Amino acid sequence: MPIYLDNNATTKPLAAGIEAMIPLLAQEYANPSSLHRPGRAARERVERAREQVAGLIGARPKEIVFTSGGTESINLAIRGIFGGGNRRQELIISAVEHSAVRRLADRLEAEGCQVVRIGVDASGLLDLDNLDSKITDSTSLISIMHANNETGVIFDVEAVCEIAQRHSVPVHLDAVQSAGKLPLDVRSLPVNLMSISGHKMHGPKGVGALFIRRRTRLRPLMVGGGQERGLRPGTENVPAIVGFGVAADQASRLADAQGASIRKLRDEFERIVTSLIPIAHVIGEPASRLPNTSNIGFAGLQSEIIVQLLSERGVYASAGAACGSGSLEPSHVLQAMAIEPAIAHGAVRFSLSRFTTDKEIHDTVEILNAVITRLRAMAPTARRF
Ligand code: PLP
Repeated sequence: MPIYLDNNATTKPLAAGIEAMIPLLAQEYANPSSLHRPGRAARERVERAREQVAGLIGARPKEIVFTSGGTESINLAIRGIFGGGNRRQELIISAVEHSAVRRLADRLEAEGCQVVRIGVDASGLLDLDNLDSKITDSTSLISIMHANNETGVIFDVEAVCEIAQRHSVPVHLDAVQSAGKLPLDVRSLPVNLMSISGHKMHGPKGVGALFIRRRTRLRPLMVGGGQERGLRPGTENVPAIVGFGVAADQASRLADAQGASIRKLRDEFERIVTSLIPIAHVIGEPASRLPNTSNIGFAGLQSEIIVQLLSERGVYASAGAACGSGSLEPSHVLQAMAIEPAIAHGAVRFSLSRFTTDKEIHDTVEILNAVITRLRAMAPTARRF
């Protein structure tokens, strides 16, 4: 049986979510805006899912807008603020954001906005003093991630919100990787906007949500019908929204207990790997990290080859360096952390889920050890580390 350790890319959809979706795809296909009985039933399903998603983050259902996923939520949040005739036109992000934020920031910059990128230290943590000093009267929004998709490093969002509030600047939190893995409560965390995604928490793909705190003014990306209070017009994807609701509901109930058992497995994995393989370096330590994420740099080796050999043996992980124009470039995240190039080039991300078993972790360690031993025998540079 293959071992799936790429849960930060996407997760296995819950059986209960799929079961709830099938009748909505096959028979109960009415438009939730229709006034007839099946239309009203579809509306009820959407509103129930809205309550479930709101419940996951302590929001009011009215503060949730369904979108097509994390990327759209992020675009709606950031463009929604910048496209709204706001006179202050500066965006602050971190240097390690997901490309949904990074590329949008690049685009806004090309359109004339100021973008400030705040660096991180060697363990991936945000330079908070620098953030504080970069806020000006022109700052319209701070958009930062909660947990990094590559390293799992968790930002101190409470501290970011405290700084932002002192300067009266709104905060958008990219919680795509943390929602369902860490407790999140917008009643105590004063973010104005928060993006989450269904497929990262055992829901279906192509559905996400944006939390919009009451009184936050946003301009929609699209014009059309009045769905989602006009903020996301277009007929709702009822089956996906319902599957997302089921996943959010399970995550609300299970997150704490499962987080602890996933962390135990992850810690065990890192302990054995680093003791067996001398060239293995855990990236992101000693920062606090998502319980499911382990990014390990195998010094002197190339991550794409490791991932390929693991895949041939039925272990699915992800490379921290991508091949662009013929050369392996470490990701912008590892570069921002100034990880030694020899380690960054060999970075592999293993991301666990609530379905990962003890046996899978021990089998992975064995297969990984064999792969690395083989590659080290072939790569003379790796022997030096
Ligand atoms: N933000 C982060 C931190 C992510 O990890 C991802 C997906 O990998 C996204 C945003 C984009 O989410 P989606 O795939 O739902 O568009």
